[in-house]
Amino acid sequence: MDSIRARIRDRYADVLRLVQRRATEVDRTAAFPHDLLDAYRNAGLTAALVPAEFGGAGLSHREFSCVVEAVARHSGALSLLLIVQAVGTLPVLRRTDFPRREELLTAVAREGRLLGFALTEPASGSDAYNLQTEVVPGKNGDYRLTGTKYLITNAGIAHAHVVFANLREPGIRQVCAFLVDADRPGFRVGPPNHLLGMRGVPTASLHFEGVPVDEADRIGGKNDGYVVAMETLNISRPWIGAQAVGLARGALETALEFASRRQILGEPLVDKQGTRFLVADLAARIEAAGALVERTSAMIDAGREDYTAESAMSKLFATETAMWACERALQLLGGPGCVAGNRAERAFRDAKITQIYEGANEVQRILVAREIVRAHRADPAPPTSSPAG
Ligand SMILES: Cc1cc2nc3c(=O)[nH]c(=O)nc-3n(C[C@H](O)[C@H](O)[C@H](O)COP(=O)(O)OP(=O)(O)OC[C@H]3O[C@@H](n4cnc5c(N)ncnc54)[C@H](O)[C@@H]3O)c2cc1C
Repeated sequence: MDSIRARIRDRYADVLRLVQRRATEVDRTAAFPHDLLDAYRNAGLTAALVPAEFGGAGLSHREFSCVVEAVARHSGALSLLLIVQAVGTLPVLRRTDFPRREELLTAVAREGRLLGFALTEPASGSDAYNLQTEVVPGKNGDYRLTGTKYLITNAGIAHAHVVFANLREPGIRQVCAFLVDADRPGFRVGPPNHLLGMRGVPTASLHFEGVPVDEADRIGGKNDGYVVAMETLNISRPWIGAQAVGLARGALETALEFASRRQILGEPLVDKQGTRFLVADLAARIEAAGALVERTSAMIDAGREDYTAESAMSKLFATETAMWACERALQLLGGPGCVAGNRAERAFRDAKITQIYEGANEVQRILVAREIVRAHRADPAPPTSSPAG
């Protein structure tokens, strides 16, 4: 992964410099960074995973994770912009029978079209089966979409959203996924949320009031919506892991810079044994988190299907590590760390959100335990030694 990291750092050096330069301002103003979006588009990063045949960058999952990590070292929000674009693209990429696939992937790659992924609702987050948004068949083979989505990233800037809703047909209640263009009648974006972290990339509610959609907009079969959502999140969770690793690295670097300069009782803070022990623990956990992300990304690149546990573990472990690492980094920085405008303080606020979105970490624990127990039941491994040793 280190060689991939180095290659990615070289290839996107200009973009990463811009990220570094703009991160503080974007967080302070929470204004959407159009210059960064242009830079991402020019570098092909808004079509990071789209294959070259459609005009995309065709990055592997390992490469994309490295991009996310490198951006998140300076700004969680600016990495979120890349992640959400990729999350919105994934269902279209994977569902080769989606009628609008070629049109959409080409538009993403060549016109820089932006996407969103709208699953969460006011009454349905972790409980993703409890969707209230519904699609009702119309008279001419079309459908009408009605409901509200909540906390949706890229709201107001995305040209289309992948929207999950219950299809109401006589006697049937099924979750469907539809690609809904933002210029359809009856679609409205609510006011932007003021966030703790990830500032600068908009989240808001999406309101659908009888929005027309048709068969050509449906991603997957009539009953496939939930599978589409879960297979997408299974793949995207390591990206949140990579984002968390980047945040943790950034916080550690900031703490090391400060502790090397700061004199306490006649010596640099970084030379105190307590600080050194902390640095060792931070570095070890960040590397372990990065290794989990890499392992999961490599499994996905290899075309394996059995990465649910790894995906959930990488998101769980990396985001818990990031929250802990950012908190410890702030402790090392002392009072100045609590003054807005430094990288560790920003990472601390950004890291909190990584524990919640893309499935709260309690949901990740449920997934990991389910997979581990299932695998154990299918094939209880013989103990390597007696319990007594
Ligand atoms: C900045 C930001 C961007 C977002 N972007 C998007 C987006 O683009 N698209 C989208 O669809 N959603 C998005 N979300 C929403 C996010 O995915 C949800 O907030 C998340 O899934 C959790 O759902 P919830 O907030 O409804 O929490 P709830 O489901 O109400 O859960 C509340 C808390 O309960 C705990 N919990 C949950 N389940 C269990 C359990 N089984 N046992 C014990 N404890 C549990 C967790 O700690 C959780 O945080 C975004 C959120 C934020 C903050």
